[in-house]
Amino acid sequence: MTHPPIEAFEPMLSSATIAERVAELGAQINREFQGQELIVVGVLKGAALFMSDLIRCIDVPLRCDFLRVSSYEGGLKSTGVVRWEFDLTQTIEDQNVILVEDIVDTGLTANFLYESLLLRRPRSLKFCTLLHKEANTRINFDLDYIGFTIPNRFVIGYGLDLDGKYRNLPHIAALPVES
Ligand code: 5GP
Repeated sequence: MTHPPIEAFEPMLSSATIAERVAELGAQINREFQGQELIVVGVLKGAALFMSDLIRCIDVPLRCDFLRVSSYEGGLKSTGVVRWEFDLTQTIEDQNVILVEDIVDTGLTANFLYESLLLRRPRSLKFCTLLHKEANTRINFDLDYIGFTIPNRFVIGYGLDLDGKYRNLPHIAALPVES
């Protein structure tokens, strides 16, 4: 698949803007979980960069874990089916869990993950997403922590990919709109 050159992508969120918002989310989590412990669960691969920055802004005791599901198969559109690729390495029963996603688009993945983890009877389950394409989303629960609400554009960078590439960009940019 050929893609536009990186210069053609439209800058959307700078690394400084992202860092500022991530620090605010960390501060909010610190306030809400003061005196408690957390398991922070990152959804790979997209949330890896966000999660690593976010946990460094959290000062309550925490453990990290990761899971991976796929719904996009490398393209621009969801396949509509969420598939487990790998699961957590620890029990979350009776624990405070924050699930960390890169982006909530249709909400299909978010609903699937939220409902799957809820069945494991955590003490609390919060959902944190860096980006939210609000206009597209149909979900059965509240998103507790949202970094940025964005328009319905395909975005890359800061962990988000296009065919596996561009995750390493420090900022977030949108695929140019076809004219
Ligand atoms: P949903 O199930 O909410 O439709 O999609 C969630 C998943 O689709 C995200 O975890 C992410 O992997 C992928 N996704 C949705 N929108 C975008 C986007 O604009 N850019 C990239 N790179 N991935 C996206």
